[in-house]
Amino acid sequence: MDNKINVVSLASGSSGNATYVRCGETEILIDAGISCKRLCASLGEIGTDIKNISAVLVTHEHIDHVKGLDVLSRKIGTPVHIVDASCTEYARKYKCDTSSFNVHTLGYELDIGSLHIASFYSPHDSAACVGYRIESESDSFGFATDLGYVDREAVDHLLGCRKVVLESNYDEKMLLNGPYPPSLKQRIMSEKGHLSNYDCAALALFLAERGTGSFLLAHLSEENNTPEIAFNVSSRALAGRGVSLNVADRYSPTYLI
Ligand SMILES: [Zn+2]
Ligand SMILES: [Zn+2]
Repeated sequence: MDNKINVVSLASGSSGNATYVRCGETEILIDAGISCKRLCASLGEIGTDIKNISAVLVTHEHIDHVKGLDVLSRKIGTPVHIVDASCTEYARKYKCDTSSFNVHTLGYELDIGSLHIASFYSPHDSAACVGYRIESESDSFGFATDLGYVDREAVDHLLGCRKVVLESNYDEKMLLNGPYPPSLKQRIMSEKGHLSNYDCAALALFLAERGTGSFLLAHLSEENNTPEIAFNVSSRALAGRGVSLNVADRYSPTYLI
């Protein structure tokens, strides 16, 4: 049996996030931050179908992570897994029915098909936010976006994962010199905001030194970053380590190799 975990970023960044994860016949999504129509099209593009998705794991309730969640849950019937505080805020903010959702406490773990999933706390300015460590019998994958700083719990969970999706949100110079109002700049750089290219590169190096062989940089800011800058910062940090590094495209599927 094939226990390899395949990962494809379907959409990435403030305009919407969704990541496809497959192991054998088990297919799941992390976040549904694009319309259900776009999700269907993206899944078709990578050769699968939305009806094959057996769960969607929600990181947090910000719109760029839940835009398609309501339709996905109601019309397609895809089971949703979400942390309690995020679920309450999601229902309040978007006036959506969450009665069918599987609601968990922070740090929850569950098995879906051949995958074991462990969630971990991610410091971010939502009601709650989680990252994921996902394992099969012979493979492991870590997912961490929307984190204000590299928290110990995140490191513990990402450590030893063969492949990792990491947030590389902003270039500090571009953010500081850019058009955002000071309060928003502060929010992004705060411990409840997002990870900079340098923070990401330092974490990637730490993980690469301990066995991670493949990285996909994700959730890049459109205003305060470019794929080239994000790639170059992590690429320099990882130079000579023989790891694979790629940047998730904003709108189209990107494979984590
Ligand atoms: Zn967020
Ligand atoms: Zn986000």
